[in-house]
Amino acid sequence: MTMHASTIDSIRKSLVGLRMPRALEALDATLRRIEQGEIDGIQAFDVLLMEELTLRESRRIKAALMMARLTTIKTLAGFDFAFQPSLDRNRILALAELKFIERAEVVHLLGPPGTGKSHLATALAVEAVKAAKSVYFSTLADIIASLAKAEREGQLRERIRYLCRASLLVVDEIGYLPVVPGGGNLFFQLVNARYEKGAMILTSNRGFAEWGEVFGDPVVATALLDRLLHHAVVVQIEGSSYRLRQHADLVPEHVRSKAHINPPPPPKKRGRPPGVKSDDQDAG
Ligand code: ADP
Ligand code: MG
Repeated sequence: MTMHASTIDSIRKSLVGLRMPRALEALDATLRRIEQGEIDGIQAFDVLLMEELTLRESRRIKAALMMARLTTIKTLAGFDFAFQPSLDRNRILALAELKFIERAEVVHLLGPPGTGKSHLATALAVEAVKAAKSVYFSTLADIIASLAKAEREGQLRERIRYLCRASLLVVDEIGYLPVVPGGGNLFFQLVNARYEKGAMILTSNRGFAEWGEVFGDPVVATALLDRLLHHAVVVQIEGSSYRLRQHADLVPEHVRSKAHINPPPPPKKRGRPPGVKSDDQDAG
């Protein structure tokens, strides 16, 4: 390669000028691979560009996950569908194609505590981030608190506009905490602003019939459900808590019956030690 010294120098300058640090770093090793006849020139282009692209993609995804407030990462691959037989795996995989985002639909994930609602909502949100969709993840309580704060500061319109920018808004934990007075009204304004414009994923441990109680206002609850059920996909999970799966026998009867806890199924996966959760589920 010595006879190409000035060309290589020029490539190096171009990579610096184009801000391609990863390709620059990989340049020498790639040139050596050409010299050794391991790859040809065309393949070398490919190697250098792929190195740079991979770095940029992982940086973009990392930044977008932070912007989306996705701090705990969960994946569909890490979801044990065998544990939740009431859940139609293909339906979830179809949602992961993200057409519901383009159609600005609302996905409801309903079920008792510990059945994987937040896990699935997060995993779908991560898929959306990877597909370069803008995402915002929050609990209902945090969204309402941020809307209330914005209202106090005369910034409600701006805050709603901000929360409408994401093409997917995830609202986790509807029904766990009582909504503060006026909170339902604020949430309605957000839902109304996103209606038919932006997709949402909502998770709740309460049925729609209980929303009047959840929001402390049956009129607001009816108006909310009117928007949130119009273009909607409802996924009901009827299972036991994954959190309590190893401790079903220790949980008091009245809690167990409420949460539909069953003793864990006998281990059937080859060679998996009991109590170890596999994060890499097989594809079949
Ligand atoms: P929910 O939001 O319905 O209360 P989570 O999604 O937070 O429940 O699930 C509780 C914990 O159990 C999380 O750590 C989640 O990753 C895990 N989990 C729940 N269901 C499954 C599952 N089927 N496979 C793997 N992990 C699961
Ligand atoms: Mg949850």
